[in-house]
Amino acid sequence: MATHTDSLYADWKKQYPKYQSGFFRNVRWVSVILLLGIYYILPFVRWDRPGNLPNQAVLFDLPERKFYIFDIVIWPQEIFLLALLLIAAALGLFFITALAGRVFCGYMCFQTVWTDLFLQVERFFEGNRKRRIKLDQSPWNLEKLARKLGKHLAWLFIGLVTAGVFVFYFSDAPTLLRGFISGNAPSAAWITLAFLTLTTYTMAGFAREQVCIYMCPYARFQGAMFDDDTIIVAYHPELGEPRQANRRIRNSTSEKVGFCIDCRECVTVCPTGIDIRNGQQYECITCGACIDACNTVKDKLHLPNELIRYTSLREMGGQKTRWFRFRILAYGTLLTGFLGAIAASLLLRPPVELNVVHHRQPTYITQSDGSIQNNFTIRALNMSSNQQTYALGVSGLEGASLKVAAINDVDPQGQPLLTLSPGEVAPYTVYLKQAANHVQHGPQEIIFQLTALDPQGGKNSYQSIFMRP
Ligand code: SF4
Ligand code: SF4
Repeated sequence: MATHTDSLYADWKKQYPKYQSGFFRNVRWVSVILLLGIYYILPFVRWDRPGNLPNQAVLFDLPERKFYIFDIVIWPQEIFLLALLLIAAALGLFFITALAGRVFCGYMCFQTVWTDLFLQVERFFEGNRKRRIKLDQSPWNLEKLARKLGKHLAWLFIGLVTAGVFVFYFSDAPTLLRGFISGNAPSAAWITLAFLTLTTYTMAGFAREQVCIYMCPYARFQGAMFDDDTIIVAYHPELGEPRQANRRIRNSTSEKVGFCIDCRECVTVCPTGIDIRNGQQYECITCGACIDACNTVKDKLHLPNELIRYTSLREMGGQKTRWFRFRILAYGTLLTGFLGAIAASLLLRPPVELNVVHHRQPTYITQSDGSIQNNFTIRALNMSSNQQTYALGVSGLEGASLKVAAINDVDPQGQPLLTLSPGEVAPYTVYLKQAANHVQHGPQEIIFQLTALDPQGGKNSYQSIFMRP
């Protein structure tokens, strides 16, 4: 007896999106060229920084936990700024989605951008949509082998360059490039290079729209950010229906027909292979290719455009799209707040960092003259762009005297002077003593102060405890 089993999974159907010129294609070209240009060039841009700070404009120095973004240097103790930046990026995505749907997916997402690049390479080697379909259906011969080989080698080359450039963001690019060429690059760089080459090759060459439809979590939850005013790409059935492909019937005056001539151009250009005439679908990445396709058809037939267009559900219902609404204002306010907090943290941070650790063994030392000594390790970081000399002082302790190991320079008040190059972080062992005639019982709150002699160098302080019997 024959049994029938339904598969839980849809069969993968290879997409052969047709190239479609037009306004939105031009916008995507600008976006692709701009984003890829920035990505590939940025690690090689040099930036003048003082002292021994690296001169790479954008560098994420993971071992040192320092991040260089043009004039901004994020130090290890400011890693929270990266967390704020990630939250701001997520809020920016929510804001754009609520405003304009999946426009990020269609024009800016790295999966879309690299898939677009890989598709152009495929078109170069294998021809237009019809030729590509024919080539895949034809038996293997020398020409097919050459075309396929050329395409895959070009894809692998792009994957390799893409992966290499990614690694350059984490190390000095020219040095690492020389390391790759001479075979002396660190093993972590080789592993990352191999992994990212293969993932770029697989994701942009083979997985393509499957990533947008099945793998990307953003595609799944973006629906929660949509409302009736969100901008989407939509087919207007009131203009297009009843669709009619037959020219004779279209031209007869007796039958009412819509503007859709059922040419399916909107389907053949779609990178995710959907028919937008079936209504709003989560697979749509709002790339606008179907709009360009339909407008081209309409221009040729001298029929009105706008059968498929960027619109909102409210506009389709005959009302005006509301741009200012609660979720837009909420996301916008939160985004502005986070960006403001990041800017304020960067602008208001003191150009010197001070950290103090009290030595625990022993917590205090009673000297033969009755004075009490506590030892500390202080860590000072010069975040200014010049060499600075700082005076180290302490307040809150009567009869205090301060000495720093291996430092003999003092200012007229007897405060030790510490000199640091730009970007230098240095630990010092500090001996703090309270004269016997001022000693009282129990711990005492004190404040260390580091003050640059040059006012541009700034000052900072750190609260600590002076321990006594
Ligand atoms: S339906 Fe149109 S806008 Fe949506 S992904 Fe396909 S071509 Fe792009
Ligand atoms: S491209 Fe326009 S006219 Fe052609 S099938 Fe699509 S909606 Fe109809």
